Amino acid sequence: MAEILIVEDELSINELIRRNLNLTGHHCVQAFDGASAIHLLENGKFDLLVLDIMLPQFDGYQVFERALGTPTIFLTAKSELTDKLKGLGMGADDYLTKPFQMLELAARVEALLRRTKKVETEFRLGHVRCDFDSRQIFLNDVVVECTPKEYELLEVLIRNRNIALSREKLLDMVWGYDFDGGTRTVDVHVQRLRHKLHLENYIKTVYKLGYRLEI
Ligand code: CA
Repeated sequence: MAEILIVEDELSINELIRRNLNLTGHHCVQAFDGASAIHLLENGKFDLLVLDIMLPQFDGYQVFERALGTPTIFLTAKSELTDKLKGLGMGADDYLTKPFQMLELAARVEALLRRTKKVETEFRLGHVRCDFDSRQIFLNDVVVECTPKEYELLEVLIRNRNIALSREKLLDMVWGYDFDGGTRTVDVHVQRLRHKLHLENYIKTVYKLGYRLEI
């Protein structure tokens, strides 16, 4: 999970970005003008900045100068082609031209976080913590004995959280295409995860399809 500052004066776009980045597990703080963005940057630490150029009070460039090396994705209007170049010349990491697809932004955010080594190394879900480096699951900070497949199933659910995954898809992702057991295997492992980790309220059954980790 990364801490992301969204600076965009168009309320609906700002909100759309926030909702989409929240869905991919990030925490977002919103600013709607240059002055409050600068104030937030001076008083907090962010892993990434999504920064519109045309802003009231201070523009995106002025905000960027105060961002002190925070990885930044600039948002530019189509007409601001020279601005785009200026943005990159100033050391911005990436830019997107409006209008853009939310999936595109999410992909750029993940790529930039990966480049700046802010990738998720763990995920917390209430009393459960999943450590991606050591491949261990903790319940109230105590390691839970899990088989490799149970761990992988949980990791797949976490990395695709809030998305409904079919039993067949889960089977492919966790057990691989050459596994000749049936989809019942998925059900059995989901039951065990729910029970061991008390995740009954999080791992939802999707009727006639499969499962979804709901957060
Ligand atoms: Ca704007």
